[in-house]
Order: sequence, then structure tokens, then C-alpha cells
Amino acid sequence: MKFKLQVHLPDTLTKWFPEAIWRMEEEDKCCYLTFDDGPIPEVTHWVLDLLAQYDIKATFFVVGENVYKYPDLYKRILDEGHAIGNHTYNHLQGLKTPNKEYFKNVEKSDRLIGSNLFRPPHGLVKRSQYRYLKQKYKIIMWDVISCDYNRNISKIEVLRNVLDFVRPGSIITFHDSIKAEENLKYALPLAIQALKGEGYEFKKIEFPKIRPLYIKPAIDIIDRLKERIRKISRA
Ligand SMILES: [Zn+2]
Repeated sequence: MKFKLQVHLPDTLTKWFPEAIWRMEEEDKCCYLTFDDGPIPEVTHWVLDLLAQYDIKATFFVVGENVYKYPDLYKRILDEGHAIGNHTYNHLQGLKTPNKEYFKNVEKSDRLIGSNLFRPPHGLVKRSQYRYLKQKYKIIMWDVISCDYNRNISKIEVLRNVLDFVRPGSIITFHDSIKAEENLKYALPLAIQALKGEGYEFKKIEFPKIRPLYIKPAIDIIDRLKERIRKISRA
């Protein structure tokens, strides 16, 4: 396999988050299309039309704010049988966000969508955020990123990124966003056709719920612990 860090991470790095899902365990020739950052009317309808045309089910990691703005479009994703994952409410970057604020933002999105799947925006979370979120969510990363959002690479390169790195069980990431629109509209139909030609089937990502939703946030527990430590150190 070729080496291209932006597209595919080696196992030495994915081990950093061992319980996150980077690739599905598959005996069959099967892959998982995922779409991040939507739903937005300009792109998501087009993606849904294309998936319907090929009778493919996929997984959408939605931004809560967009779900709030476009509830009918969100409903269309559900009505057409796709899976939904949480991608925070405001597309927050974990490393730059204090934990309390980050967890609140994830919960705000959860109140709208109630999914047990979570994908951190930019794939970036602190170890502490990962440890907390994995109690409640299956953290879904990727095996292949198309880099469709990158306007500095050619459309053909976006397509190549997918076709060069795909393997059975691959979780493939595209974006239903304005930034990715041009590359996506070129690469996605061609990727689907090529993968079908190679005998790939497409599935959505599904896991049984790990724990009931709306568990008490661990941050409360941490706050209480800190208070106790303060009291002890004062005594
Ligand atoms: Zn994103």
C-alpha cells in the first residue's frame, strides 16, 4: 500500500485511540461511505440523489447547527435509511476546546440527533476527551480520507485517494460541504462506479447502543472530585 498520511494513517498511529473504529472487520468485499459536516441544501440533496440512484446506504456525521437549520433535509437522510453520527454542534476542534465546552457541544447535538456514533471534527481530540466520549459513543474515525475539501489538489487526485487506498472494510470519508462540493461532485460518482466494478458492496455503519443516552456527564464527577481535593488540601 502507498504511503500518504493525509489519506490513510498507519496502524502505529491509529493505535493511539485503540477503541476507536478505523476500519470495519469484514470478510466480504464491502466498504462504508461517510459524509461529514452537513446537512446543507446545496450539496446533501445531490449526495442523497446519487446514493438513491445506486441504492447505497451511507453514514452522515452531521453538525448539530446544520440539523437545526435544515430539519427537513435531515429528515430526508433518515427517511432514506442512512445512518447518522454526531460531529459536534458547531464543528469544534477538540485540541483547541476546553473539555467542559466540548462535551456540552457534543451533548447539544446529541439532544437533536440521539446517535451512538461520534466522529471528532478534523479527527482531533485530546486523550481525556476520547476517554470520556468512548463511554457513550462508538468513536468512528476513517481508513481513507478523500481530501475532497482540499482545493489545492486536483479532482483526479481526490478520486485516486479513494481508489488507491480502499480495501475490504474501509471507512471512506467525503464531505457534504461547500468547500468540498466541486471535488465531491466529480469524484464520488466515479468512485462508486469503480468500486462497484471491483465488486464492492456499500453499507452504513451500525452498532448496538453502548449505554443509554443522556448519561450523567463525567465533568460533574470531576468537578466534585476537584472540590474534595481543594477541601482536603485546605484542611
Ligand atoms: Zn468535519
